[in-house]
Amino acid sequence: MADLEDLYREIILDHYRSPRNRGELTCPPAHRAEGFNPLCGDEVIVFIELVDGKLADLKTNGQGCSISQSSASLMSEAAIGKSVDEIKEIATAFKAMLGVTNEDGEAVDTSSAQLGDMEALKGVMKFPVRIKCALLGWNTLLTGIDEGQG
Ligand code: ZN
Repeated sequence: MADLEDLYREIILDHYRSPRNRGELTCPPAHRAEGFNPLCGDEVIVFIELVDGKLADLKTNGQGCSISQSSASLMSEAAIGKSVDEIKEIATAFKAMLGVTNEDGEAVDTSSAQLGDMEALKGVMKFPVRIKCALLGWNTLLTGIDEGQG
């Protein structure tokens, strides 16, 4: 399926070159969280605004490899406007797509989650070192949400 791989590569490059929801939000009311992947030198900064249990706004910033930055961009599109519970569900499904199991080591049922263009990152699964790059944005967002709620 060379065509599908080409399409996936195109989506990743497009989000790397033109990241969506790039920038900063004023803190407060927004909350800032920062993630770093020392293996690759990737950095993702998220600015989140939670209103009534929903992610009302999200901006991302940072620098690093195409996987980390395109994943953060794809994440921002998927997460804005969603409830915290929905975001955690998508994050779990995304991790499961990359072969990452939950804390109990059990496989996760991802049938209900809509990953959309994020499926373009599925190929990363073949490169275990890059999985941390793909997860950096999501893990930073989840940390920020926990901190922002607390
Ligand atoms: Zn990376």
